[in-house]
Parts: sequence; C-alpha cells; structure tokens
Amino acid sequence: MKEILLLKDGEIVLKGLNRRQFEDVLKKNIKNTLSPLGRFEITSAQSTVSVKPLSDDIDLDEACERVGRIFGIVSYSRAALCDEKTLESVLKTAPEYLAKQLRTAKTFKVEAKRSDKKFPYKSPEICRETGGAILAKFPHLKVDVKNPEVTVYVEIRDHGAYIHANPIRGAGGIPVGTGGRAVILISGGIDSPVAAYMMAKRGIKLTAVHFASPPYTSRRAEDKVVRLLQKVARYSGAMKMYTVPFTKLQEKLRDDCPEELFTIIMRRLMMQISQRIAEQNECQALITGESLGQVASQTIGALGCTDEAADMVVFRPLIGMDKQEIIDISYKIDTFETSIEPYEDCCTVFTPKHPRTKPVLKFVKQAQENAGFEPLIEEALQNLKITYIS
Ligand code: ATP
Ligand code: MG
Repeated sequence: MKEILLLKDGEIVLKGLNRRQFEDVLKKNIKNTLSPLGRFEITSAQSTVSVKPLSDDIDLDEACERVGRIFGIVSYSRAALCDEKTLESVLKTAPEYLAKQLRTAKTFKVEAKRSDKKFPYKSPEICRETGGAILAKFPHLKVDVKNPEVTVYVEIRDHGAYIHANPIRGAGGIPVGTGGRAVILISGGIDSPVAAYMMAKRGIKLTAVHFASPPYTSRRAEDKVVRLLQKVARYSGAMKMYTVPFTKLQEKLRDDCPEELFTIIMRRLMMQISQRIAEQNECQALITGESLGQVASQTIGALGCTDEAADMVVFRPLIGMDKQEIIDISYKIDTFETSIEPYEDCCTVFTPKHPRTKPVLKFVKQAQENAGFEPLIEEALQNLKITYIS
C-alpha cells in the first residue's frame, strides 16, 4: 500500500470549457509548491488531483501543509492507494489504514465513489462490504449516517482504488495565474498583505510595488516588507517586488503643495507610478489595502480623488471590512506579528495636521499640476530596485 494525497478541485468545476486550462495551471502550481520536497506524479481526473510521491523519503506532513495553501483546492486528504483495484484489497486496506482514527471513534459511515464503471461492484455494495470489514475489526463502532465522527471514503478511480477519511478544508479560491495579473501596493502595515492574499485567492498573479523614502524610512522598513511578501508568497507563489525611491517626490510635495492636500496628492502619485510599473509588467489592475473610512485618505471623497489618478481598475478587497476582520485574516496568514513591528512607512512622513477628508478633485489636480512632478516621476521610474520574492 502506498500513501498519496487526494485534492478536490473547487470552483474550477464551474468553469466549463476553460476547465482544462484551469486544471493545468493548478497542476503546475501544485508541482511548484511541492518541488522542494521531492518528485511527485500529479494526475487529475473527475475534479480530483492525485499527488503520488515518487520516493519513500518524502515528508507528507509538510506536503499536506503546503497543499493547504494552494488556491483552487476545496479539500484534501492523505489517502491509501490499495495494492490492487479489487474489493478484497479495499476490505483489507480500509480498516488497516484508518485503524488509528477508527479505534478512538465511536461512530462512522462509509461513502463510496465508483468513477471506474468497469469495477464489478456498485457503490452501495462497496459501502456495505467495507462497513462490514471495519465493524469486524472494530466491533465497538456504530454506524451513524447523519453525523459520524469518521467518514470513510472509498474511491474507485481509473488509476486505482483509494481509501481516505475526514478530508481537511483547503485554501479555496481559484488557481493563481488564472485570474490575470495585478500590482499590489504594499506597505509594511496590516492591511496590504491581507489585500494581496485576498486577490491571489481570486486567481491573480501578483507583482509588488513598495514606496520607500530614505532616510525618512529605514532599510529595516523595506526589509520588513520583503518578509511580509515572503509570507504572502506561500499562498500567491513567487513574485517580483519593485521598490520606488520616493524621497524627492515627497520632499517636493512638502515644499510645493498645500499641506492639507499632502496625503491625497501622495496617494495619487503612488497610483500613477504603480500604474506605469503595472503596464511594464503586463498587469491589468492595481490592488490596495484601503478600507472605507479607516483614515482621512480613505473617505469616499478621498478615494474618488485617488482613483481618478489611475485609469486602470483598482481592486480594494478590504473596502467593506472592519479592522478586526482584517486582523483575523492577518493572523491566519501569519503576517500580523511582522506587520506590527514598529518601522515607519513613507505614509507617515510629512503627515499634515489636518488632512482634507472631502478634497475637491479640481483643486487637488490643480495643486499637483502646479508642483510639476513629471520629471521626478520619470527619475523614480529610472531608479527602481527589483527584489525577487520566493
Ligand atoms: P496598510 O496597513 O496596508 O499600511 P493603512 O491602513 O496603513 O494600510 P494607508 O497608509 O493609508 O493605510 O495606505 C493605504 C494603502 O496604500 C495601503 O493599504 C497600501 O496598499 C498603499 N500603501 C501605503 N503605503 C505604501 C507604501 N509605502 N508603498 C506601497 N503602497 C503603500
Ligand atoms: Mg500604512
């Protein structure tokens, strides 16, 4: 008996004619995620991907943990591949492989799926026989079809017969790379890493852009962003990070723009520069971690003024979320502790005492135009630093 992983496709099932393409991307993502652990044979059929380790020394616990972060998988389990595709082999393998769980449980049921229609027994017979074999070994058990502690699955597929129990919930979403590409504006805060995670979950391949204003912001602030992106990359896959030298633009902003408009014009500059980087990287959208009403630059009026600076769709997946809801996700993806390390962000450099919460677009644009940022934007774009995040 060999042990493998069985992964269930999620929403991929809904994708009709594109399904094949979705499955190919998912298989590639699984391969990339697991390749550091060794070699695997990855096959898919009937909404299920089977992942078979090709050597005995592969750490399946670690493989499971990694699989739990791959988008496009609704559930997964470790499963036994029966030595033969026969009922005898199923009846021998099921009580043996699941002995630990069955010994401590009080109730169970069996569900059979027979996608290989040539198998000589039908699903109800497989369930009955397997249930009988389990009860013979574990007579303390009771069958409970409504709410069993252990559900034993017997799957008769083209490639073999599999036994598994109590699948684990997967990361959900759709495979990264099937939803297009976008630039995430990433700060060192709590929100933007969560926003990145949420859009990767919808299939988006990410490129990151971070604005740094040395010496007002430190090398360690940038390093913190790299570490946050490494956490995000465990879900989204590898990505490129661009660091934009933002100091001269912010100094000009301080010197040549009305103080109450500092923040809003800075946000517009971020959008404009990010859009240029997006275009160079064949990205079709921008992503931010903004949430309505969280700070002065995130009122309806301010967001309207920010949006106008870019003519690319802007995704704000946190827009309707409370801080606590965002924090809950940051714990889940393990970014919270890093996010709260106390390094300054360029957003907190030259912050106005009284930022406009209802900026008037006409005046904002006028002030931005008067200052004339174009040459400095060009200069910043000429001096981008690229870091590869894996
Ligand atoms: P976060 O927790 O993500 O920093 P925030 O609530 O602190 O968000 P702001 O500082 O107003 O909000 O920033 C709003 C959004 O602007 C961020 O979520 C992020 O997408 C983007 N942003 C802010 N600072 C930077 C930066 N230094 N580089 C790139 N993007 C940034
Ligand atoms: Mg911030």
